[in-house]
Amino acid sequence: QYAIGVDIGGTKVATAIVDEAGNVLTESIISTDLSIRAIKMVEKINNEIEQVIKRTGIPIEQLIGIGIGAPGPLDSKHGIITSPPNLRGWIDVPISQLVEQHFSIPVSLENDANAAAMAEKLTGAAQENNNFAYITVSTGIGAGIMAEGKLLRGLKGNAGDIGHTVIDPSFGKCTCGQDGCLEWIASGTAIARQGSLIMGKEISTKEVFNLYFGGNEEIVHLIGKVFRVLGIACVSVINTFDTEKIVIGGGVSKVGDPLFQSIQAYVGEFALNETGRQTEIVPAKLEQSAGVIGAAALCFNR
Ligand code: ADP
Ligand code: ZN
Repeated sequence: QYAIGVDIGGTKVATAIVDEAGNVLTESIISTDLSIRAIKMVEKINNEIEQVIKRTGIPIEQLIGIGIGAPGPLDSKHGIITSPPNLRGWIDVPISQLVEQHFSIPVSLENDANAAAMAEKLTGAAQENNNFAYITVSTGIGAGIMAEGKLLRGLKGNAGDIGHTVIDPSFGKCTCGQDGCLEWIASGTAIARQGSLIMGKEISTKEVFNLYFGGNEEIVHLIGKVFRVLGIACVSVINTFDTEKIVIGGGVSKVGDPLFQSIQAYVGEFALNETGRQTEIVPAKLEQSAGVIGAAALCFNR
């Protein structure tokens, strides 16, 4: 059996045919054009899906569905992308309906962090785990929670948006209006913002980490705080969901060992129960294709 996975992001849309084991057969990438109407962009996506099907030559009867991962907030039950900050102008787009009309096969929609969690379960770092969280530390911070073997969706599929849980109000106002959200302190964007303030000039997240590895004292202090805050977030996730593993992906996780070691140490010290303190903090395995694999996985796990 095969499924189509579509990963819609703020900069690109990836489309792939994926088999049940999570192998990507053909993948195509187009850029997300936010200057055209969402409906037009969906037409382009439909066209891309068609091309990918043609290229593999798999008869449409052998496709069990089309899975779509997209930035939240969305309404996964009704297949509607509601108003994601990362897809400016996409207001109440009934994407599932628009794609389903075109292909007459079932379409599933989930937010991208949930889809990535499904991918890590299917063929990534959490294959043996039924209770785990996937956390992405990228432009923003989001999570997908797998509880008792099932993806936790909530009312409309937006469960797991831990980026806007308050960690420390002293860090000031987040884009969502609250003070001191996780994402406002520890996302890639937040790291660049605070690093730039310290250095007195605009620098990127990567440059902040270069200064960190070079031993710049103020930056080492900043990153120490960031890692601690990520540790706090993980302890909250562990204490709330009793997870056995936390998989961390996203651009910032590429920093590697120092990040994972700090979070693991914090969790070991502060998670409440024995299993919690032993929760493994591991890197995501599927960075590249997590989006499309997870989106396709939605069809295998309906
Ligand atoms: P997106 O948010 O679009 O999904 P990414 O997951 O790549 O994209 O996350 C982007 C963020 O990660 C940016 O803030 C970027 O600066 C940061 N980033 C990317 N690569 C690295 C790296 N090697 N080290 C530290 N930060 C990185
Ligand atoms: Zn917020």
